[in-house]
Amino acid sequence: MKTIVSIRNLEKHYGPKRAVAGISFTMTEGEILGLLGPNGAGKSTTINILSTILSPDKGEVEIVGHDLRKEPLAIKQNIGIVPQDLAIFEEITAEQNVRFFAGLYKLKRDDLDELVKEALELVGLEDRKKEKPKTFSGGMKRRLNIACAIAHRPKLIIMDEPTVGIDPQSRNHILESIKTLREKGATIIYSTHYMEEVEAIADRIMIMNEGVIIAEGTKEELIQIAGNETIYRFELNNSQNLDEQRISQIPGITNVHLAENQLTVQSEKSKSILHAIIATLFDNGCTFEKMTSKETSLETVFLELTGKRLRD
Ligand code: ADP
Ligand code: MG
Repeated sequence: MKTIVSIRNLEKHYGPKRAVAGISFTMTEGEILGLLGPNGAGKSTTINILSTILSPDKGEVEIVGHDLRKEPLAIKQNIGIVPQDLAIFEEITAEQNVRFFAGLYKLKRDDLDELVKEALELVGLEDRKKEKPKTFSGGMKRRLNIACAIAHRPKLIIMDEPTVGIDPQSRNHILESIKTLREKGATIIYSTHYMEEVEAIADRIMIMNEGVIIAEGTKEELIQIAGNETIYRFELNNSQNLDEQRISQIPGITNVHLAENQLTVQSEKSKSILHAIIATLFDNGCTFEKMTSKETSLETVFLELTGKRLRD
C-alpha cells in the first residue's frame, strides 16, 4: 500500500519545552489515523508540522512523496487543514467561504462550482449556503470549517480536534463526513481527546502523551496491551457459605474480592469462565440478584499507560 505520511524522529521545542520528543510513524493511503492524547500531549504541534505551519527542529517528514523541507509547496497542494481554532470569515456567506478557500488552489471555474457544492453537501450545509456564519451555531461553523478545508479534494486531510465543544448532532455529522471522505479515497489524521470518537472512526489509533507516542495499533490491539480483561460484579443474596478460594482457583481468574454481598471477579475474557463462576456460586449455595460485566476499554489502556485520565 502507498505511504502517504512518513515521519522519523520528529522533535519540536518551544524554548526549553520539548513539545514533541522524537516521534516516528507512517500512514498508508485511505486510512483514518486517530491521534489521541490529553491536553498538552503534543498533538497540535505534530499536526501543525504536518500542515507545514511549524517547522520541526529535528527529524524527517515526507508527505505524499515530498520532503517537508525541500518541497513544502508541493505538500500544501495535497493537504487540507482543519485547524483547532475556527478559520472562517463571519461576514461572507458559507458558500463564499468555501469558494474562497478552494479558490486558493487555482482551480477552473466550473470545477470550482462543482467542488464547492460537493463540500457543502458533505457537511450538510447546502441548504444554508447563502447564510453568513455569524448566524450559525458552533457546530455549523465547525462543519463549514471542514468544508473549506476539503473542497479542493486533498489527498491528506489533517484535523485537529474538530468536534470540541459542539452539539452531539453536529459531532455525529462530522464523524459521518469523515467516513465519507475516507470512502472517497482521502487519508485522514484526526486528533482528539475523545476516546469514543477514535473508537467510532479510526482504523488505527496512536496514543500520545508528553511528546511521545506511548502506544499504537487498532483498538483491539491496544486493548490487548491492558490485558483484555472482564470484570464481573455479582450482587449476592447470601454469601455466608461462599469460599472465595474456589472462585480464585478457576483457571483464567486474576482477582476475586468479596465485600458484604458484593462479589467482584476479574478474569481473562472468555465465556466459559463466566459459566464456571456461576456454577461455583450455585455449588456454594449462593444465588444472586444482579450481575454486571465490564470489559477493558481504551480508557483502561490509557489509564494503565499514563496513570492519567484523558480529560484531566
Ligand atoms: P495538544 O494539542 O496535545 O494539547 P500541544 O501540541 O498544543 O498539545 O502542546 C504541547 C506542549 O507544548 C504543551 O505543554 C504546550 O503547553 C506547549 N506549547 C504549545 N504551543 C506552545 C507555544 N507556542 N509556546 C510555548 N509552549 C507551547
Ligand atoms: Mg491541541
